[in-house]
Amino acid sequence: MRAFDFDLFVIGGGSGGVRAARMAAQHGARVALAECAELGGTCVNVGCIPKKLYSYAAGYAESFAEAAGYGWKIPEPPAFDWQQLKENRAREIKRLNGVYRSMLEGARVQLIQGWAQFVDAHTVRVDDKEFSAKHILIATGGMPFVPEVAGREHIVVSDAMFDLDPFPRRLLVVGGGYIACEMASIFNGLGAEVTLLQRTAHILNGFDEDVRQFLAKEMSGAGIDLRFNTVIDMITRQDDGRLCAMLSRGQRIEADTILYATGRVPNTAGLGLEAAGVATGPNGSVVVDAHYRTSVPSIFAVGDVSTQQQLTPVALAEAMVVVDALFGKSRRKLDYQFTPTAVFTHPNIGTCGYTEAAARMKFGKVHIFSSEFRALRHTLSGSHERTFMKLIVDQASDRVVGLHMVGADAGEIVQGFAVAMRAGATKADFDSTIGIHPTAAEEFVTMREPMPG
Ligand code: NDP
Repeated sequence: MRAFDFDLFVIGGGSGGVRAARMAAQHGARVALAECAELGGTCVNVGCIPKKLYSYAAGYAESFAEAAGYGWKIPEPPAFDWQQLKENRAREIKRLNGVYRSMLEGARVQLIQGWAQFVDAHTVRVDDKEFSAKHILIATGGMPFVPEVAGREHIVVSDAMFDLDPFPRRLLVVGGGYIACEMASIFNGLGAEVTLLQRTAHILNGFDEDVRQFLAKEMSGAGIDLRFNTVIDMITRQDDGRLCAMLSRGQRIEADTILYATGRVPNTAGLGLEAAGVATGPNGSVVVDAHYRTSVPSIFAVGDVSTQQQLTPVALAEAMVVVDALFGKSRRKLDYQFTPTAVFTHPNIGTCGYTEAAARMKFGKVHIFSSEFRALRHTLSGSHERTFMKLIVDQASDRVVGLHMVGADAGEIVQGFAVAMRAGATKADFDSTIGIHPTAAEEFVTMREPMPG
């Protein structure tokens, strides 16, 4: 039998790659991981973690504004130091990079710094060194996609948002997905004047219609200028250094920064997939089967480079399935139904399961329960922010198949309900659950009357 340098060679040190490498090594496998940048990938360096930290930063603006209603006297307006936030964030991310490194080193994973390219189905080259492995895992993630537009050189993508210099007083965001909405909310909270342009009539394609409309209303109420059915024809830089976007409807918008958050594409360019014979799909994603095996039996792929759900916890779960199959004792398939997700807008969206439209298609008859209210916190805060909750119940089985929330801490709240939903909780189970009072979450177990029709 051929002797390989490693049992597993992982390409990419993001969420999926690091998890796979570490867990495989803990099973006793000889593992190497190649990464050309900092460890932690998009999530740690330019995604989930810095985004959430900046979302907390933006949240303080709301807290300061609301504190007066609770008797606090705060000097007006409180000063915000962008440079300080950037430095503190950079320090924390550096600490996390170090944590990832020591975790991998502690597990005896060999770290290889550099760009990895396939030579064949069992061989990878990093710089001018070749490594052979029984199995190779592609976990290279994704990268922002920017459509063709005149003046494209003037725009930025989400990776750059955390270190902008100077702080953008006027920010123009293109796109209406997760990143566009989150960045619009964050920079609005931090004090920028934000305009968001969406090419269609709604933000957050794929989310429940009521949730989309409710969040759009809340974002507008918070001061974000949402413009629908609008695209940019051309971007120019003016003599004063500011950017000018000419819109399809003839208007123009000036901005300090223009962010394109128009989707992400798999990171496969330059990997030499063709050398190994790995098949890719129409958008460049690595094609895998239900066990994350590519068209080449020795090569696997997990995370944003191949998945339909570009979410860190999904990449982690996929990595575990691969490792368990290769080095553990279990061969299983991941069930993507009822994957909960949150959008860290202000207020947050938390969602699990089917939208109303998808549930009607799948189950036929459904009961819809929904509630909209002003959270107790805002009875004194003066904020006009409202909370929205919605349950979708399959009439035939009484199972709760969709749960959606727009409101403070929606991400935290929906995580718990996701467990119940995966376990098959029915509306009767929800009804027999005692609420925690006074919370917003208790509304999910006290909605009694379905919407008519
Ligand atoms: P999304 O796919 O969520 O949104 C892309 C947006 O850009 C959509 O509104 C889309 O419009 C619009 N768009 C696409 N192409 C064009 C174009 N040519 N011109 C103008 N607008 C265009 O992508 P994101 O970049 O926001 O995020 C990528 C993924 O990353 C998400 O889907 C999510 O899986 C993950 N993510 C998760 C987060 C979380 O868990 N909180 C946070 C951030 C990202 P349309 O609606 O018409 O298609």
